[in-house]
Amino acid sequence: MKGKITAPPGSLRKLYEELSLEERICEYCGRPIRRNIDLYQGRLYHHGCLLSAKERRYRCLGCGAWLSWLELGEAEVLGRRVRSCPICGGRVKEVKRR
Ligand SMILES: [Zn+2]
Ligand SMILES: [Zn+2]
Repeated sequence: MKGKITAPPGSLRKLYEELSLEERICEYCGRPIRRNIDLYQGRLYHHGCLLSAKERRYRCLGCGAWLSWLELGEAEVLGRRVRSCPICGGRVKEVKRR
């Protein structure tokens, strides 16, 4: 895993040149990014995936914080990556909206 990827605003196109397709993996859906690349906090996303991620809402079962998918922390439990609250480290539950 490489360090954080940075690109000045407006230079996302450069990422296509600098990174191979295997390195351009969307953090949200896990698929390679062939087009509509976007960057958020040093992580790569499809532009559409980034919008979806921002829309998803989670509630922390520990401290009650409301979080978007992008704000979730990550913990490793029994070798599995699980999403957790970045504030208290508690479990989070997705809140479905209609
Ligand atoms: Zn994606
Ligand atoms: Zn919490």
